[in-house]
Amino acid sequence: MNQDVKTKAETLVCYNHPDRETMLRCNRCERPICTACAVLTETGYRCKECVRGMQKVFETAKGVDYPVAFFIAAVLSYLGSFAAVYLGFFTIFIAPVAGVAVAEAVRWAVRRRRSPALFRTALAGVIVGALPLLLLRLAGVVWGGGMAFGLFSLLWPAVYLFLVASTTYYRLSGIQLR
Ligand SMILES: [Zn+2]
Ligand SMILES: [Zn+2]
Repeated sequence: MNQDVKTKAETLVCYNHPDRETMLRCNRCERPICTACAVLTETGYRCKECVRGMQKVFETAKGVDYPVAFFIAAVLSYLGSFAAVYLGFFTIFIAPVAGVAVAEAVRWAVRRRRSPALFRTALAGVIVGALPLLLLRLAGVVWGGGMAFGLFSLLWPAVYLFLVASTTYYRLSGIQLR
């Protein structure tokens, strides 16, 4: 691993791209990596192969975790979407908190097991849970007339959906490399 470690002044070339000079090394396998090949993890820059290897170790989700994560995320997101209607503007502050709560509930329910697919399943659950209210409001716009007010009534459920979904997903997937 150290045969190419010489002087500091020497230019390294990316192990993937021999035509690219670089100053970076993977901090796990120490291979030189260009900026396109470097992945910033919480412990520093790593090459894609090492990151993939790390993720394998962290993929512990079992089959039953997927429906559980989906169901919990969907139910909580559904309940939260109705709060968004009453909170109006305050949805902006409450939805991220709801997202963290959904993520923590999912983590607890699956006993902290994880995998990227499990996070995406929870994300899908959140979106599905927040959709009924949004579709109900949309139906109101289409059949109820009053376009301007109708579209405004879509605003907070839509903001809620976006914020709660992104917060849940990043909260869940953020712990993956820790
Ligand atoms: Zn590496
Ligand atoms: Zn490269």
